Amino acid sequence: MALEPTKVVLLAGGVGGARMAEGLARALPKGALTVIANVGDDEEFYGLRVCPDIDTLLYTLSDRIDRSQGWGVADDAVKALDVLRDLGAPTWMKLGDADFGLHIWRSWQLVQGKNLSDITAEAAERFSALATILPATDDRLRTKLLTDEGWMDFQAWFVGKRCAPSVGELRYEGADLAKPSARALQAIAEADLIVVAPSNPLLSIEPILAVTGLRAAVASATAPCIGISPLIGGKAVKGPLARLLDDLDIDATSHAVARRYGSLLDAFVVDSGDAADALALEEDGLKVLATDILMGGPEGAERLAREVLAYASEKLSKREPGLR
Ligand code: GDP
Ligand code: CA
Repeated sequence: MALEPTKVVLLAGGVGGARMAEGLARALPKGALTVIANVGDDEEFYGLRVCPDIDTLLYTLSDRIDRSQGWGVADDAVKALDVLRDLGAPTWMKLGDADFGLHIWRSWQLVQGKNLSDITAEAAERFSALATILPATDDRLRTKLLTDEGWMDFQAWFVGKRCAPSVGELRYEGADLAKPSARALQAIAEADLIVVAPSNPLLSIEPILAVTGLRAAVASATAPCIGISPLIGGKAVKGPLARLLDDLDIDATSHAVARRYGSLLDAFVVDSGDAADALALEEDGLKVLATDILMGGPEGAERLAREVLAYASEKLSKREPGLR
């Protein structure tokens, strides 16, 4: 029976996740897409909660994003940051003025006792974003990196140190105690298709799946699951993925990325140029779509999304309930 994806869930990090989310949202009917976002990169600055991946998704899906850099608000100013610098505060995290508005609102809502799921969904709605956006968990989860300079928060390593210290180990602190967002669990259970974005597996997707019960929810969903590789010819399109894989002695191949998701996947999408990966994945028993997986702008993302949806309709079917 052909699959007709009308409820699609996307597991996503920031930039790569948001590009895929925009493509899917453009290809699907309104209201069909729910994005479940990584919160491992979240951090407090000046007492405000900053959620970099959620923010990138919000800005991209509401067309506020600075498209030249892929994060932050277009044409934003940094007057607030200038004042903070004058006052002697550390200002290595680049937060724009419009950006601060969102962080102030989110922190204000949290202080009033609302959970991050409701706050994030409301922000998406008020911004007229093209999809529902939810965090993987409302609880505290932080990605920590063991570097040659000791344990570090993700932003301190990524922005503060520009990824210079080499990484020996990753930890998703709090994941064992964190409960999945109830709204995210409901979206997974009701989905016709689950898509794993071409996000950083180590820094974006695995912190989502590390939330106790979330991986099991995807595993027991009736929706088939298709992932898209973030690597083309062994190189990341953007960001520190290839470097991190090298530090952690993981092969920089689409095959190695898919293997990390294991039995969750029914199918994986690799670049047409990566024939060896396609072959290896098929030998593992996965269905493989080999196509041009470089998204570029929104049109390219929509083109890839339509190919993924057409492939899912044609080749994937509902699964029997039960753990895969
Ligand atoms: P972050 O949280 O901002 O680091 O973003 P994600 O984890 O969601 O995405 C980062 C990954 O997106 C990188 O590893 C890139 O290789 C991948 N990426 C970015 N653009 C593209 C694209 O056009 N095609 C594919 N296949 N991957 C992309
Ligand atoms: Ca991120």
